[in-house]
Amino acid sequence: MSALEYFNDTHQMVRETVRKFVEREILPHVDDWEEAGEFPRELYHKAADAGILSINAPEEFGGTGEDVFMKVAACEELVRCSSGGLCASLGSLDIGLPPIWKWGSDAMKQKVVPEVIGGQKISALAITEPNGGSDVANLRTRAVRDGDHYVVNGAKTFITSGVRADYYTVAVRTGDKGYGGISLLLVEKGTPGFSVGRKLKKMGWWASDTAELFFEDCRVPAENLIGPENGGFYCIMSNFQMERLILAVTANSTAQLALDEAMRYVKEREAFGRPLAGFQVTRHKLA
Ligand SMILES: Cc1cc2nc3c(=O)[nH]c(=O)nc-3n(C[C@H](O)[C@H](O)[C@H](O)COP(=O)(O)OP(=O)(O)OC[C@H]3O[C@@H](n4cnc5c(N)ncnc54)[C@H](O)[C@@H]3O)c2cc1C
Repeated sequence: MSALEYFNDTHQMVRETVRKFVEREILPHVDDWEEAGEFPRELYHKAADAGILSINAPEEFGGTGEDVFMKVAACEELVRCSSGGLCASLGSLDIGLPPIWKWGSDAMKQKVVPEVIGGQKISALAITEPNGGSDVANLRTRAVRDGDHYVVNGAKTFITSGVRADYYTVAVRTGDKGYGGISLLLVEKGTPGFSVGRKLKKMGWWASDTAELFFEDCRVPAENLIGPENGGFYCIMSNFQMERLILAVTANSTAQLALDEAMRYVKEREAFGRPLAGFQVTRHKLA
């Protein structure tokens, strides 16, 4: 099967929509936004209006329904904006929101999903902690049940959309050590005991908002539990599948973008009386 056979006419339409969105709404400003270290929040509204934020979301909330190749097509086009950071922050709902529509209560879904895919609210996923990210089963942020609340203590770091998010899907330890003691909680911005720390400076992805989060006796309503108590590790790993795919597509599309730019440059730039593309060593490198 050739790659083209995975994409139907609807996927092609989505591709066109995202391509136009990138050309009209992002490319004219993207260098300034990278320098500024953020992009206007209004871009979420515009992306929602263009239908970009509802790709893959359940149809009952106005989304397209699950369609991996639609997500891939949209991602390939969004990457053409040349800012991985903008793609990451604009797309943080792709990792923060699915656990809510898959495993959240009906009330939670009804409240959170339409606001996020509508661009009014921002969703983030908070797994990584200062002591480690790869070893998810070892996370330490503790949530202790106290009546109809969980009391959360701990910290998270490297959280995409960490400063600006309204809804955080947070991994916590509710049980014993290891993967069997982890749960997911929805924490809303403004919950007493929850605070956002520094916006982190990074080598790249400057337009992405990346932050630390702190929980100090933060009381989270028990109904904010996402999925079964102590069953969070399964939800996290299942959620990672899509994140891994999107990151792979992002990496591949970024490499393609770099190659396209290099091809353009070697035809335009001249040295020793001919374009760089006229030198065999340059052509070898590009091949
Ligand atoms: C820009 C950015 C955005 C991010 N956004 C988010 C987000 O939104 N939400 C979130 O929760 N996290 C986020 N992260 C965190 C990211 O998921 C972690 O950085 C990642 O999981 C790795 O964790 P770590 O940085 O603690 O590295 P470590 O786990 O300390 O790993 C360090 C190195 O050791 C290697 N290593 C670790 N374990 C093993 C092993 N068993 N065998 C061999 N090698 C190993 C790793 O590959 C890595 O090279 C983000 C990170 C960055 C940089």
